[in-house]
Amino acid sequence: MVIKLYNTLSRKKEVFKPIKKGQVGIYTCGPTVYSYQHIGNLRSYIFADILKKVLEYGGYRVKQIINVTDVGHLTSDADAGEDKIEKAAEKEGKKTKDIARYYWKIFKDDFVKLNISEPSVWTWASKYIQDQIDFIKVLDKKGFVYKTSDGLYFDTSKIKDYGKMANLDVEGLRAGKRVDLKEKKNITDFALWKFSEKAGIRQQEWDSPWGLGFPGWHLECSVMSIKHLGERFDIHTGGLDHVPVHHSNERAQNIAYAGHSVVNYWIHGAFLVFKGEKISKSKGGLYTVSELEDKGFNSLSFRYLCFNVHYRSPLNFSLKALKGAEDGYERLKNILADIEDDGSVNKEYLSKFEKCIFDDLDMPGALSVLWNMIRDKKASGKIGAVKEMDKVFGLDLLKKEKVKVPEVVEKLVKKREEARKSGDWNKADQLREEIKEMGYAVEDSPSGSKIKPN
Ligand code: AMP
Ligand code: ZN
Repeated sequence: MVIKLYNTLSRKKEVFKPIKKGQVGIYTCGPTVYSYQHIGNLRSYIFADILKKVLEYGGYRVKQIINVTDVGHLTSDADAGEDKIEKAAEKEGKKTKDIARYYWKIFKDDFVKLNISEPSVWTWASKYIQDQIDFIKVLDKKGFVYKTSDGLYFDTSKIKDYGKMANLDVEGLRAGKRVDLKEKKNITDFALWKFSEKAGIRQQEWDSPWGLGFPGWHLECSVMSIKHLGERFDIHTGGLDHVPVHHSNERAQNIAYAGHSVVNYWIHGAFLVFKGEKISKSKGGLYTVSELEDKGFNSLSFRYLCFNVHYRSPLNFSLKALKGAEDGYERLKNILADIEDDGSVNKEYLSKFEKCIFDDLDMPGALSVLWNMIRDKKASGKIGAVKEMDKVFGLDLLKKEKVKVPEVVEKLVKKREEARKSGDWNKADQLREEIKEMGYAVEDSPSGSKIKPN
């Protein structure tokens, strides 16, 4: 079995080779917990979940780390502005700890709603302060660190292929710089440690050999990934927005610290977009999963929607698209509910499915294999194959639930029952036809009418 994955660093699909036989280490950049995670954020975690499930399906034991950023992420990725968590705590009049835990808990509830499995370990940035300080000490000893009046900075000019991940023209950037660098040496340099402007104003600040302050955002991910997965590990994931700054910086820190590259495969998920624009928290975030539920959607319909588009392509969100996905998902479940399990597994379709998932997580392809199998009147072993496929889809495809019937159809069914009770068979037949036109079939049984998709 060969699994191919697209590596952002090489810009190629590569054959996945684990460092340790049968095992995979994955670090997934997690949420900054100052607000709700919107459905755009969750698209990223559905992608990471699929990656994990595909590797598990392929027989690997996966250790996944997801970090929780509860300190250091500033309102501008370029080390300026306020700390997002501190700002939210001030606005809500709460402790930073409470803010972080509150939003993290909701995020975890969303994992359950979307059938995203939890990581092996959650790592909180504020719990790894000493490790972060120790990491800076190593970088400092190796000559990658300089001090300014507001903190310690990483000298990116010391990493010769700093721009490789983002295909950045670093020389061009440096030559053409018109921005005020203040005390930074290079435009791409970033903070490792920021000093508190005045002691006692921030809720989260720590002593360090260089002064009271807090770690820069990029540092936590290098430190916690290496701590849990080692100085060489397999896969690092995140959203595409992380490529030019956060992951370029993480990679630079890793190389400086370990003397070699640490991550073998950098894999990034494309955005969920709305009317052509990336959905982002700073602009209000569009919807949360709970808001979709409040609108009457099944949260797994959003997971299903994500499989309509490959993870490396933008996905245009609209309520209409979600409704379309929900209709497809429910139809699929209803059809499956009526298929008998003959005890076998359809190997032909399962192998087509595997070809898709192992080819850089081609979920749209996998979904169409599933539909083709269901429509294939001659195929046997359908339920056996779906059991296997759903280990990756995670859509509860065989979970028996009541058929969700639109209200108008329910009303017609009731009317028809009344017509039958009063012996008005013509009316009952006419109503059966109306129901059929709406895509449903009624079956009469001693216990009442049963309704199924037609
Ligand atoms: P944050 O909480 O802002 O640090 O983001 C959490 C994750 O969501 C990161 O991996 C981001 O790259 C990702 N992300 C943010 N916005 C979107 C979006 N519109 N579509 C997909 N992923 C996103
Ligand atoms: Zn990160």
